[in-house]
Amino acid sequence: MRELSVYYCPTCGYYAYFQLSKNATCPKDHTELVGLGMRYQDFMNLDYEERDRLLISKIAASAPSLIHRICTSEKLYNQRALVGKLTAEYTKLQKENEELNHTVAWMHELVWEQLRRYKALEQEMEVLKHD
Ligand SMILES: [Zn+2]
Repeated sequence: MRELSVYYCPTCGYYAYFQLSKNATCPKDHTELVGLGMRYQDFMNLDYEERDRLLISKIAASAPSLIHRICTSEKLYNQRALVGKLTAEYTKLQKENEELNHTVAWMHELVWEQLRRYKALEQEMEVLKHD
């Protein structure tokens, strides 16, 4: 019998054991799971907290730089601090996004205004030509 390997989902942190990597899919995200590169037995010897830490550090290592920065700047193992930090960052990004949307709407309005003026000028010129 083939040995079981540990696989995890970089999106939601789900983990499971498989013999073949082709069977390793996340039931929630339907994405391919990533091999942890660790023997099943070694993983089993860890307690739940140690497994969590290991998976969090793996996920953080492959995450976009922002998440990476947040996770590594904080003590990764203090999960409350991490959640707090992520929440703060999320709120900040949300606010930035709102401001950007506002700017885009404003620019959009400006462009339309310019276009209306241009069209009006064009019509005026047409009128002048035919006079
Ligand atoms: Zn998942």
